[in-house]
Amino acid sequence: MQYRYLDLRRPSMRDMLILRHKVVKFIRDFLDRRGFLEVETPILIKSTPEGARDYLVPSRLYPGSFYALPQSPQQLKQLLMASGVEKYFQIARCFRDEDPRADRQPEHTQLDLEMSFVEEDDILGLIEELYTALIETVTPDRRMLQPFPRLTYAESMASYGTDKPDLRFGMQMADLSDIAESTDFRVFTSVVQGGGIVKGFSAPGCATYSRRQTDELIEFVKAWGARGLVTIALTDRRPGRSAAARFLSLEQIKQIAQRTGAGVGDMVLIVAGPDKTTNQALSNLRHEMGRRLEMADPDLIAFAYITDFPLFEWNENEERWDAMHHAFSMPKYGTEKFIDSDPGRVIGHLYDLVANGTELASGSIRIHTRGLQEKVFEVLGYTTDEVAERFGQLLTAFEYGAPPHGGIAPGIDRLLMTLTRNNNIRDVIAFPKTQNGIDPLFGAPGEVDQAQLDELKLKVLTQ
Ligand code: ASP
Repeated sequence: MQYRYLDLRRPSMRDMLILRHKVVKFIRDFLDRRGFLEVETPILIKSTPEGARDYLVPSRLYPGSFYALPQSPQQLKQLLMASGVEKYFQIARCFRDEDPRADRQPEHTQLDLEMSFVEEDDILGLIEELYTALIETVTPDRRMLQPFPRLTYAESMASYGTDKPDLRFGMQMADLSDIAESTDFRVFTSVVQGGGIVKGFSAPGCATYSRRQTDELIEFVKAWGARGLVTIALTDRRPGRSAAARFLSLEQIKQIAQRTGAGVGDMVLIVAGPDKTTNQALSNLRHEMGRRLEMADPDLIAFAYITDFPLFEWNENEERWDAMHHAFSMPKYGTEKFIDSDPGRVIGHLYDLVANGTELASGSIRIHTRGLQEKVFEVLGYTTDEVAERFGQLLTAFEYGAPPHGGIAPGIDRLLMTLTRNNNIRDVIAFPKTQNGIDPLFGAPGEVDQAQLDELKLKVLTQ
């Protein structure tokens, strides 16, 4: 990466740059034809929270004061709606100081989009049309599921254990808690009685897995937080080869096979434990089995919409409610009545676009009235002063009249990764940072001259 300019000479990198150009140009032309206005919003701004830390820029003219780089133009696009710009978009750079991950960079590009007087369906329909036309034009060798499947958050969690399901293959999960509770198997009964779940799926053709292979799977789920893995290989010898089989009646094994859709030759993989870890372990295991069994068609981009997310999520560690996505989303199905009594029951007008196991976009229909927005901030634990300081401009704008509005923000880097079948975000960005947030070409971040620090009235305290 220190010699990125040489790396970019490689034909594959040149092709990536050309594809990226074509994608962005297609998006611009498509939205232009639909009457959208591209508006640039500032990079030097104030905190615009999306759940990450801010990058701060010290002000020379106002020593001790800082700009924050936008985590997204969220408030700005909502202010544009209040201005009467009915259809806005921007190819926007967003900055989030988060812990590094392979598919994350300190800065990323998103198609930021917002519309007035719309319902959820209008936004989902528009993005589906855009992506379908885009892929048919720039990567015509790729196929999509059409129409894009839509699952609610609850359905996705139940069938796939995750809100980012890879729909290129089946292996749907089934809740086995009731069957498990009726067995004499302590591992199962104690989990269900303790409020946990027992869940599993069928891995096709894996009944012949050796002891070593099943041990590997056990280690795999343990690494994802599960206590263990129960495997039931369905052979035509009864009662199903399994360490747990002696605790299960033939009838119970049949019920499990039926629920998970397993037949002779398949192996049922079951995890028992608290809801969250069970889903986490099983969804990763499903993904791993999909990889091992080469079940995913490499030409398929299985887009899907996940809708109806809860608005709030309980943060165990800090004992408070967090926004599942962000603070600006509108409650749905009349569930705002639970805001005070039971925030966990409030469903949001929230939607994600996922493809092949990755989240590609998030959006929502927004709150556009001051009272409800203040209520949500209150649940999230903001003090009145914090609300005034961070969101005062938005709340005031609502008082001048804001149309109902909503939007979405598909990530461009992630889209490029999907289009190029690449799982490294660095390969789709001309000048990326390393996974540790370093730019080896420029040596950024770097120290600055004492004179610059003096001008900013900053002192560096090193340990
Ligand atoms: N601002 C959101 C984000 O960056 C997207 C949206 O809700 O439009 O994730």
